[in-house]
Amino acid sequence: MPVETNNNKPIKPPKVQQFGGSFLFLLTLLLLLNLIVSNFLGTRLPQVPYSTFLTQVEAGEVVRAIVGSDRIQYAIKTQTPDGKTIEKVYTTTPVALDLDLPKILRQHNVEFTAPPPNQNGWIGTLISWVAPPIIFFGIWGFLLSRQGGGPAALTVGKSKARIYSEGSTGVKFTDVAGVDEGKAELEEIVDFLKNATKYTNLGAKIPKGVLLVGPPGTGKTLLAKAIAGEASVPFFSISGSEFIELFVGVGAARVRDLFEQAKQQAPCIVFIDELDALGKSRGGAGPIMGGNDEREQTLNQLLTEMDGFDANTGVIIIAATNRPEVLDPALRRPGRFDRQVVLDRPDKIGREAILKVHAKNVKLADDVNLGIIATRTPGFAGADLANLVNEAALLAARQNRQAVHMADFNEAIERLVAGLEKRSRVLNETEKKTVAYHEVGHAIIAALMPGAGKVEKISVVPRGVGALGYTIQMPEEDRFLMVEDEIRGRIATLLGGRSAEELVFGKVSTGAADDIQKATDLAERAITIYGMSDRLGPVAFEKIQQQFLEGYPNPRRAISPKVAEEIDREVKQILDHAHHIALSILHYNRNLLEETAQKLLQSEILEGSQLRDRLNQAKAPAETAEWLRTGELLTDQPLMQTLLV
Ligand code: ADP
Ligand code: MG
Ligand code: ZN
Repeated sequence: MPVETNNNKPIKPPKVQQFGGSFLFLLTLLLLLNLIVSNFLGTRLPQVPYSTFLTQVEAGEVVRAIVGSDRIQYAIKTQTPDGKTIEKVYTTTPVALDLDLPKILRQHNVEFTAPPPNQNGWIGTLISWVAPPIIFFGIWGFLLSRQGGGPAALTVGKSKARIYSEGSTGVKFTDVAGVDEGKAELEEIVDFLKNATKYTNLGAKIPKGVLLVGPPGTGKTLLAKAIAGEASVPFFSISGSEFIELFVGVGAARVRDLFEQAKQQAPCIVFIDELDALGKSRGGAGPIMGGNDEREQTLNQLLTEMDGFDANTGVIIIAATNRPEVLDPALRRPGRFDRQVVLDRPDKIGREAILKVHAKNVKLADDVNLGIIATRTPGFAGADLANLVNEAALLAARQNRQAVHMADFNEAIERLVAGLEKRSRVLNETEKKTVAYHEVGHAIIAALMPGAGKVEKISVVPRGVGALGYTIQMPEEDRFLMVEDEIRGRIATLLGGRSAEELVFGKVSTGAADDIQKATDLAERAITIYGMSDRLGPVAFEKIQQQFLEGYPNPRRAISPKVAEEIDREVKQILDHAHHIALSILHYNRNLLEETAQKLLQSEILEGSQLRDRLNQAKAPAETAEWLRTGELLTDQPLMQTLLV
């Protein structure tokens, strides 16, 4: 476990003991103080009842008196046994508002006066001034010692950076796999921190800042921790969002504090996670209301601090973000984050390596082939793969197996891709039939389309949030590009489910909504981003804004209404043609569709050779090849008339 200390202070002993100790001490101190003060204030004099005092006045014994509102001090003349006359001083507490008293005193010739403004002398004054602050600070100090870091209000400007002392993250470079380029880059930095002279002797300057960018879960944070584990230097870790506070200026103060600490500890590494939280472009889309003063000030402070130290002092700043495009350009200027290390989703070899890392502590059965698992998981990031291994192990444990088998991994992949099985959701007969034809429709078209991989499984067991049935298609290799005909094929496959419903039942259900959504998105992207329309040409109509985060819509560029209309027409045409081909293929393979759907209704799941043999019988009608190549249909006949006979 990492030893985390606050502001580099030594770890405090358990707080409970300390609490009891200092509290008692404080109490004693207060009591003592009280005793001293009261001793000075009230000089001990014999106290007599008020009535006695009055009697003594009337007897003419009282010589003089000091009459205060709550105390009367008076002297009486008495004779000592040896005949001397002496004065004795007494005090008494007057009855409230005895307005007759001055009159009585005058009648008996008593010399009287009010007490002087300050009866207690200079020591009393001193104490009355000095004691309250002492008590105040005593309590303050007591609170400070209790809190360890001081009351929250006092630490607003302090950086909250956690410091991992060397190697204490427990993460090593060997724990990070599949990101070899990134690792190589960072190994160089670790080496610099360890053997600085090797570089400085040659006059080489080490980069001040390294920016790790990549989609979520690709190991950015992990890699930064691995640096801490490898480099034997202090490692400050803080998240970008921790700089941003309610009060303007606090973030800037934190940045200053962080760098101050770092410079004292150089050589060291400062890691800022989720840099985009504070490094958003200052120009850009304006804030909704008011200024973003706090963030801007914090960012400015960061920029200043990064300029403010010499590259070879040995403070290296590593930051991570999955939104590099929103970062302020000033951050990426040379001398700041001038190195950028991209951690992309791993390829097949990388995935296998990551699986190996995570499977190290898992008992694997002999039939497990990590290479095959890697093939079946394109697009999975490191975090997904870690999750997959754990999921598989959990499944095996639930089955009381001695080791994790390939079947567990397959089920785990399915869970991650399609969600949990929901056998509790019972479909009625019509629904089940609709779902079966729908899925077989997807499968038959998928089997005939280029580059999309094998159809591995069709199921009518509901899964996940919305899927009533599903078809799993597994790629045979990693693909980094999609060619035009593959996009068309993909769109036709997506529309295959709905087409089968149309063909068989003559009407459509709501079950195709998601397919249609995806098909439309893909068709639109083909035209507005990939420039695949002949009529509109290679023009970008959308601004790609998120490089690493998927699922965010891109804003349209400024386009004329005429062009917008054309885009819509083109999108519709792509979808219409794909729909037509899907219907046409299913019509052509109508018997296969019927038989496979009936079989699926019986067994609920079709997979393996049973499924493969069936899908191998699927044949494409003549027009398909031409459509895949050009996107154009040879026939001019309207869609429905051709097919729904
Ligand atoms: P990021 O910060 O990029 O979003 P993390 O570093 O937090 O991702 O990764 C989360 C988890 O996923 C890690 O703790 C680790 O278990 C696993 N992981 C991610 N990438 C890798 C990798 N390249 N090698 C091994 N494990 C990884
Ligand atoms: Mg992270
Ligand atoms: Zn579907």
